Formats: sequence, C-alpha cells, structure tokens
Amino acid sequence: MTEGNDTALVLFSGGQDSTVCLAWALERYARVETVGFDYGQRHAVELEVRAGLRDSLSAMRPQWAARLGEDHLVKLDALAAISETALTRETAIEIAADGLPTTFVPGRNLIFFCFAGALAYRRGARHIVAGMCETDYSGYPDCRDDTVKAMQVALSLGLDKRVTLHTPLMWIDKAGTFAMAEQIGGNALLDLVVADTHSCYLGDRTHRHDWGYGCGECPACNLRAQGYAKFIHLRKTT
Ligand code: ZN
Repeated sequence: MTEGNDTALVLFSGGQDSTVCLAWALERYARVETVGFDYGQRHAVELEVRAGLRDSLSAMRPQWAARLGEDHLVKLDALAAISETALTRETAIEIAADGLPTTFVPGRNLIFFCFAGALAYRRGARHIVAGMCETDYSGYPDCRDDTVKAMQVALSLGLDKRVTLHTPLMWIDKAGTFAMAEQIGGNALLDLVVADTHSCYLGDRTHRHDWGYGCGECPACNLRAQGYAKFIHLRKTT
C-alpha cells in the first residue's frame, strides 16, 4: 500500500524503534528520506550503525531500495551545549529528583521535530515518521501522543503547509516493536533489528545477547531485553 507519490522523512537514529519506523515507511511511501541528529551524544554508536542499516534494508527488497532516498545528518551542537544529562556528560544514568531519567535532554524531540519540519519542507516531504512511544516512554513527556499532535499543528501552521507526523509505535511496547519488525519484513528484518540496531546507553557493542548487543545493565538494555523476552513468549503462546 502506498500513499500516492508522497515523500516521507523518517527520524532515523539507528536504534531499534527508528529502524522499524524506517521499514514501516518504506512499505508505504514512494520516496523515503532519513534524518539523523548529532547532538554530541556521549557515544556515537547509534549514528555509526545508520549507514549499514540503510544498506541492509535496501538489500532486503528491491522496492525498498528504489524508494530509499537521501540521508541527512544534522549537527545540533547547541543542543549539546544546553544539556546537562547523562548522554552527553559522564554522569550516572539514574532517576533524578524530578522523576525523569538523567538521560532526558529537555525538549529534545521538540527540537528534532522543528528541524525535521524545516528539512521536510525543503525536500517536499508531507509526512514525518518518528518512533516516539507513550507505552514505555521512560518518562519523556516529549514522546507523548498529545505532544506530537501539538507539534503537528504547530509545524503545519508555522510552515503554512500540511505536515503529518506519524508515530507507528506510539501505542505498542518493545515486544510489539519486535513483532512489527517480523510482520513487515519477516525473519530477515527481525534479525537485522536484533543484531544491528543499537539501544545501549553505554555504547556497548561487544556483549551479544539473544536480544542484541549491549551492556545488559542500563535502562535501555533492560527495556530491550524484557521486550524481546515478552515477544518470544507471546510468539510461542499464540
Ligand atoms: Zn546497556
């Protein structure tokens, strides 16, 4: 199913969620471009796996290869400069007094959407696809559905052009994301998501688990491990 000749821009970090979103978009849109943001992440592993993931997705289906267009990498040094968080500084990853994890960069996704909106406008893309998820959003208020809907209205008004923000993972958990990968691209896509996408906050690509690479200890690894275990369990029982 494609939606006309529409172009979509996918916020693509190289993580599990955004990789599934990219495959989701490749199924639907005639042309799909990707954007990544470099904001001084303490570990650039995610950004490093992006090109390989794009190549692997292209190799999976000729139709996807034909649809996959340019990749854009936007440097956001200013975001790093104003952030005092565990992802960009050598601080511990924990839950801070305000109830948010110290990995939280305040308003990060709002900033991403603004830049993505400007880029989408320039590239003639009417659709922006992003992996925000309210189900296990780790307390990030800018992943909430209402926040995303408000951004869609703000961008459409501010650009004077209808922009639609799609968040296919909004109401599913990590197990559902693994299931979606399998549903869209079968075992090949599931294996790619497990082996080649990156979630670990510590940037660990040396320890291999059944759910992929990671330290196995950080919140991102825990979420991914639990999600994968649930996915396998549900697959066996249904
Ligand atoms: Zn980890």
